[in-house]
Amino acid sequence: MARIDLNHIRHAYGANPKSDKDYALREVHYGFEDGGAYALLGPSGCGKTTLLNIISGLLHASHGQLLFDGKDVTRLSTQERNIAQVFQFPVIYDTMTVYDNLAFPLRNRGVGEADVDRKVRETLDMIDLASWAKRKARGLTADQKQKISLGRGLVRSDVNAILFDEPLTVIDPHMKWVLRSQLKQLHRRFGYTMIYVTHDQTEALTFAEKVVVMYDGEIVQIGTPAELFERPKHTFVGYFIGSPGMNVMPVAVEGRRARLGGQTIELPGTPKAEGASIELGIRPEYVRLGAKGMPVTIRKVEDIGRHKVVRASLEGREIAAILGEDDHVPADPHVSFDPAGINLYDKSWRVEMGA
Ligand code: ADP
Ligand code: MG
Repeated sequence: MARIDLNHIRHAYGANPKSDKDYALREVHYGFEDGGAYALLGPSGCGKTTLLNIISGLLHASHGQLLFDGKDVTRLSTQERNIAQVFQFPVIYDTMTVYDNLAFPLRNRGVGEADVDRKVRETLDMIDLASWAKRKARGLTADQKQKISLGRGLVRSDVNAILFDEPLTVIDPHMKWVLRSQLKQLHRRFGYTMIYVTHDQTEALTFAEKVVVMYDGEIVQIGTPAELFERPKHTFVGYFIGSPGMNVMPVAVEGRRARLGGQTIELPGTPKAEGASIELGIRPEYVRLGAKGMPVTIRKVEDIGRHKVVRASLEGREIAAILGEDDHVPADPHVSFDPAGINLYDKSWRVEMGA
């Protein structure tokens, strides 16, 4: 396995790109550590597949340099980069048996039959297809075919990294959970460098040690699931992660206070930015609903099992709060913000607060 460095990578699909808008990847400068488990998370069209294909070599970036363990591989082919990649939809040989589909990448690299057999059987167990080994792939369900694809990605242990591009899209929800846990176990056991692309925050947060959040051709934040939750660097991360996402509201900052309409909110520190273009972000988990604080009008209460989501109106803006399963909406509802959950944003980027 290898460390992967992306040095000022930019990519445009069209010829003669002029402005940032012409770039599918505007600028990515980041190093994936050897043996790390990463998720690339972002909405459809933000450039995840483009980035993954640049790492594997299916695509050559228009600018920048790619290093594996410090060695320049920018011009190398996919084969030479020695990367395993699992795609969103099955890529398998229909006329081969399930066994041979997995054996193929090993035999291709000249691995001896005894080792091929051991690795293939191990992988078949992992993807729960051992009893299908002798069947032709053609007759299998989409779900099973995708498991073969996944197996083909996992069967080789000599690769520099394993890349997954939304690999569980066609897998049923229960199996999704099983396979994700297995991938995580594999990572723990063998220390593979794994990069897992998804638009699903649950998948990203449960699989990865580090989540790389992408938005509009750029990385907006890299962090542990806790960092993304507690300290979203960009309001997009606040909205995109969490359910419901972070509440974001325009405020006017004066010293250690923020003014929201006719209300004043005490801040946990003095922000290093002032003026009227500031936004305050607070996750629903940190909005306290009670008899004291800022008056709100309740619009809707959604009971979602473990807790309730309360939709209210505060100074004319919608705000979401989370209530415990056994908690009740007070008769004269007010909200207050737990200072630990307050973040401030200037032009969508988080600003630090001093003491
Ligand atoms: P994601 O995987 O995050 O959904 P992609 O990397 O596939 O995003 O796409 C990023 C952007 O590049 C999108 O605007 C998409 O329309 C564009 N794009 C992707 N592939 C091509 C291509 N082969 N030719 C032209 N534009 C493309
Ligand atoms: Mg994609």
